[in-house]
Amino acid sequence: MALHYLKKAPKTATSDAGETRAIVQNILDDIEKGRDEAARKYALELDRYDGNIVMTRDEIDAAKAQVPQKLQDDIRFAHDNVRRFAEAQKDSLRDFSVELVPGLTTGQRSIPCRSVGCYVPGGRYSHVASAIMTVTTARVAGCRNVTACSPPRPGVGMNPAIVYTADLCGADRILALGGVQGIAAMAFGLFGSPPADILVGPGNQFVAEAKRILFGRVGIDMFAGPTDSLILADAGADPMVVAADLVGQAEHGYNSPVWLVTDDEPLARAVMDLVPELIAALPELNRKNAEAAWRDYAEVILCADREEMAATSDDYAPEHLTVQAADLDWWLNRLQCYGSLFLGEETTVAFGDKAAGPNHVLPTSGAARYTGGLSVHKYMKVATWQRATRDGARLIAEATARISRLEGMEGHARTADIRLRKYFPDTKFD
Ligand code: NAD
Repeated sequence: MALHYLKKAPKTATSDAGETRAIVQNILDDIEKGRDEAARKYALELDRYDGNIVMTRDEIDAAKAQVPQKLQDDIRFAHDNVRRFAEAQKDSLRDFSVELVPGLTTGQRSIPCRSVGCYVPGGRYSHVASAIMTVTTARVAGCRNVTACSPPRPGVGMNPAIVYTADLCGADRILALGGVQGIAAMAFGLFGSPPADILVGPGNQFVAEAKRILFGRVGIDMFAGPTDSLILADAGADPMVVAADLVGQAEHGYNSPVWLVTDDEPLARAVMDLVPELIAALPELNRKNAEAAWRDYAEVILCADREEMAATSDDYAPEHLTVQAADLDWWLNRLQCYGSLFLGEETTVAFGDKAAGPNHVLPTSGAARYTGGLSVHKYMKVATWQRATRDGARLIAEATARISRLEGMEGHARTADIRLRKYFPDTKFD
């Protein structure tokens, strides 16, 4: 399908992937060899921090005292929504057993990972909500050992609101470490934490790459790197709301793509005029991020009709997908590739990011083609079991022995034979 771009991005999220990989591999190798001291060295080098790494109870209590009461109430409100959504997810995971042939019972259990490492991003912004999303969901899943880490701010340590939130949501241990050194500490079991069975949480390209390199030695939730967002809008959409939503997501970072897909050129032109004005009105850090993201990564695509819009969106497989168009049920049924879907103008990505309940740790860079976002299921292994009576074993053993011999696996066949001879000594088998 040849797309009609009104604005085409000069860069893609993978533009500097090779360079990132080399930097991250080097840091991981150093920390695996040098353990705690090497991690401290990178905290000093990259985040200019040489303070305490493991938060003490006194430090956690002091952090809470610095968080205004109204903000504590808001964090509790968001935590409650995220917890209840995760509990509903957990209810959808049912253990079961089924007798497949007489005497052979098989089953499935969902078992939580024992130890979890939650990354809470904190470089450009203090992502309090990521602590809620990762730690709360681990707790609902039933994980026993939850470590959270987040970057310290130069000279002063972690943001008190992140410390308060991680503790409220149930973290057993909070580390003032960011980036690759934070991920490495949780994966390798540094600073007294148990090595993580699974690493979860979003982060910048260094964090996402560290998780990708470590995958296999540890589990990961998914590839959750720089945020991306797509808006599907028709002629009935409000250009100011569409523009505000694009700018709201572009402020994430210089490499956070935002895309507008529409079948209405006047709407597209109006939005393209408004976006630079809205960006110019942001505070300085946010403005710089959004300017670069809009210049280098944003795209505006004009389609013939809503079917082409939906197909284009599925090809992009955005992390966040917003629909500001008529007939929301049609879009809900038609769209197939997204991390989280926001239907109608009355909701927006920021609601989901901060407080609504569905998880905000979501697949980026096209990973929504094959995975959803962070959920209770990601922290749990679906493991199977079986047991048999002697009559049940007989049925399976005969087939097993023949299939094994066909495959040339004589040792396997004899594990079946030995049972047949033991349980049915008077019977002759083929
Ligand atoms: P971050 O915590 O992810 O990264 C900060 C760390 O990066 C620092 O501690 C530092 O150690 C490391 N770092 C910085 N420059 C480095 C370099 N040159 N070499 C090695 N390490 C370096 O915070 P951030 O940078 O603000 O990024 C947060 C990211 O999280 C954004 O990209 C945002 O879009 C993304 N995000 C994604 C989701 C999702 O669900 N996908 C949700 C929220 C945020």
